[in-house]
Amino acid sequence: ERAKYESVSYLAFSETLASEMFGRYELLKDLREAILDNQILAYFQPKFSLKDNTLIGFEALARWVHKNGQFIPPDQFIALAESSGLIDKLDQQMLRQSCKAINTLKNLGINVPISVNVAGNEIIRPNYFENFKRLLAEEGISNEMIELEITESQIIEEKTNINKHLSNLKTLGIRVNIDDFGTGYSSLAYLSTLSVSTIKIDHSFVWRMEESEKDWEILKMIIELGNFLGLSVIAEGIETEQQKTHLLALGCEDGQGYLFAKPMSLDDTISWVKAGL
Ligand code: C2E
Ligand code: MG
Ligand code: MG
Ligand code: MG
Repeated sequence: ERAKYESVSYLAFSETLASEMFGRYELLKDLREAILDNQILAYFQPKFSLKDNTLIGFEALARWVHKNGQFIPPDQFIALAESSGLIDKLDQQMLRQSCKAINTLKNLGINVPISVNVAGNEIIRPNYFENFKRLLAEEGISNEMIELEITESQIIEEKTNINKHLSNLKTLGIRVNIDDFGTGYSSLAYLSTLSVSTIKIDHSFVWRMEESEKDWEILKMIIELGNFLGLSVIAEGIETEQQKTHLLALGCEDGQGYLFAKPMSLDDTISWVKAGL
């Protein structure tokens, strides 16, 4: 079945803090080496239209298998990469790998965009656009095929005028997703001024919607707000058929989650795509 594709044992390791095992300094040293050596792989999780179950794209998610064989989850190395100035390089590698995946999938007749996660303070750097455009040009990828995901909290925390940079991206035809939406407490007024194309609802609302009336109502409001503002709305972390049905009924048209597929290596993504053709 589709859900079996994640080849590395995720839970087994996430129980233990990587930094406890290695020590923070060791971990940072190994992370630097892994990044400089291109050892971090992009895995791809498909996104679907909830109405008709068609594939609408993929999200690239970083995967690090430490040289000692341990799997280290992103929650334990992304923050370290951010605080040590390695995140730009890592995200650029994920972008490069995503471009290559787009070309590979194109040869199989699948033309869908891939979204990459970027840290909020990356897109405000002076040479971000130039690097981005150059990399896409080098890989022969048009701007519409790459989307960006930036968390709501990082957008809010960014003190410089991030919207200027967001609208530059929009002008280039690059769609920006506000990731983990609902956890960052942005105001309605603020959201309506942001040049983003997609609200990505945080999984916590999806997981709690059936138990908590409050979360159900917040979820409903977020979806209505997104639809009202003319934004795409996608829910992450959909694990059950029932969650999917509820989301669709509330007006959320797109989704992603283990119900459909887990993040997969490029090879597994290719097999997965071929099996569905
Ligand atoms: P995110 O961007 O919000 O990604 C969604 C996370 O939920 C991913 O975790 C994904 O594997 C997981 N997920 C998806 N569907 C389900 C589901 O149905 N059930 C459950 N339980 N989980 C699901 P992951 O891959 O561990 O990534 C965690 C976070 O690390 C990401 O959250 C993102 O913020 C960050 N991250 C991952 N890769 C990168 C990267 O290349 N660059 C940057 N800057 N951040 C990254
Ligand atoms: Mg994301
Ligand atoms: Mg998210
Ligand atoms: Mg997240």
